[in-house]
Amino acid sequence: MSVVTRFAPSPTGFLHIGGARTALFNYLFARHHGGSYLVRIEDTDKKRSTAEAIDAIRDGLSWLGLSGDEEMVMQSAREERHQAVAYEMLAAGTAYKCFLSTEELDEVRQQARADGRPVRSPWRDRDDHPSDMPYVVRIRMPEDGSTTLDDMVQGQVSVDHDKLDDLVILRSDGSPTYMLAVVVDDHDMNVTHVLRGDDHLNNAFRQYQIYQAAGWQPPQFGHIPLIHGADGAKLSKRHGALGVDAYRDMGFLPEAVVNYLARLGWSHGDDELFSLEQAISWFDGSNMGKSAARFDMEKLTSVNSHWMRQMPADRLADMVIAIAASQGAAPTGQTKIWLTDMMPLFTDRASTLNALYEQTDWLFSETTPELSEADRDFMTDEVKKRLLAFKLLLDDASPEADLLTEQMKIWLAENNLKMKDIGIPLRIALTGRRNAPSLVDLILGLGLSETIKRIDHICL
Ligand code: GLU
Repeated sequence: MSVVTRFAPSPTGFLHIGGARTALFNYLFARHHGGSYLVRIEDTDKKRSTAEAIDAIRDGLSWLGLSGDEEMVMQSAREERHQAVAYEMLAAGTAYKCFLSTEELDEVRQQARADGRPVRSPWRDRDDHPSDMPYVVRIRMPEDGSTTLDDMVQGQVSVDHDKLDDLVILRSDGSPTYMLAVVVDDHDMNVTHVLRGDDHLNNAFRQYQIYQAAGWQPPQFGHIPLIHGADGAKLSKRHGALGVDAYRDMGFLPEAVVNYLARLGWSHGDDELFSLEQAISWFDGSNMGKSAARFDMEKLTSVNSHWMRQMPADRLADMVIAIAASQGAAPTGQTKIWLTDMMPLFTDRASTLNALYEQTDWLFSETTPELSEADRDFMTDEVKKRLLAFKLLLDDASPEADLLTEQMKIWLAENNLKMKDIGIPLRIALTGRRNAPSLVDLILGLGLSETIKRIDHICL
C-alpha cells in the first residue's frame, strides 16, 4: 500500500505558520515513503471561505515548495458524492433519518445532558417515517464500549462511546456536514495517513465512527500539538502568527522557513540546520513531540542567516535585485557584479534579504548616493583634503588585499594619521553611509578606479 497524505486547509484566512507546518509534515512523510502528498481546499463553509484565501494558500504553498502532487481538490465540488455516501449509510442502516424539530431536539439534548447520556434521537429506532417532513441524517453511534486510536503522535487515545452523540452528517437542506465531507474525501483520495493539529483529535473519534458506518478502513491519524509563542502562550499575531506571505515579504528564504518549521514539533537528534532532502530522509513518522512547540522569531532569523550564506552569491544578488525592484530601485550595469563579488561581506551583517538590501542599496546608484545632512557637515574641507591626498595613494595601489593594507599603513604613518582618520570619511565617500564593510574590502570590492571616482564625486 503506498502512502498518501494530504493537507486540507479551510480557506478562511491566509496560510499561517501552523498550517504551513502541517503541510510540511504531510509532505515530508509522503516523500520519505515514496508516496504522494495532496492538497484539498475545504471550502464547504461558503460564508467564511474566500477566493483571496484560496489564492493566498496556493501562493504560500508554492513559495514553500509544498504544492500538492496533483491539482488541488475543492471539497465543495464533491457535495453530491458526500450526499450519495450518506444515502448508502442510510440504506445500510448505519445512519438514520431524524425528524426532530428544533424544539424537540433541544428537549432531547437537555434530557440527555441531565442524564449524563449522549444525544440519541428517538428516530434512531423508528421506521414510521413521515413523508412530508424535513429530516437530518445522523450516524448511529455504537452504544457501549469505547474506541481506541493509535495516534502517531499522541499514542493510544480512547473515547467512551457514551460520550459520542449521534452526529449529523446531512443537514435538513441536504448539505453534507464538514465531518462527513472530510471522511468521504480522505477515503476517495486514498489517504492513508492524516497529520494535522491536535485541535482535531476530538473530531478523529467521530470521523472514525463515520468510517465504520461506511464500512471503510480509516487512515492512520497523527495529531500534532499546536504551535505556541516564545512565551508559551497560544500563538497570536504578536508572536509571528502571520501569513506565510509576511515572512516572504520580510525577506526570509523558503529554505529557511521550511527548515525552521520542520523543527517545530519534530526533531532528529540535535540537528537544527538541514536541507529538505535530509528532512525527507529522516522524517519517518517518529519523533514528533507531544508538547507544544514554541515559535521563536530569533531562531528563524538565525536559520535564515545560515541559508543565505549557503546560497550562491549570484542567486542571492538576483534576489536582492528583485527586492530593490519591488521598492522601485533599478540596478546599474555594475550592481550585479558588485553584489556578487562583495556578497560575503554583507551576508555576515544581514540575516534577511531585506536587511541585505538595506546594506547594499548604495550599490544601486551610479555613484555615491546623496549624503545625509549630518554627513555633509562631517565632510569639512579639511576632511576632503585628507581624502584627496589618500586618493593619490590609490593611483598606484595594489589590488591585493595584503599589499594594499600594508601600503595604507605606511601612508597613514607618513601622514601622521590613524586608520579612523580616513575610515569614516572614506566609507561616507564610497557608500553614502558610515556603517559599511572594512575599508580594504570596500576599496577592492568597488575597484580602485570606482573608488577614485567616488572620492572625486564627493570631494571635488
Ligand atoms: N480543514 C481543517 C482545518 O483547516 C482541517 C481538517 C483536517 O485536516 O482533517 O482546520
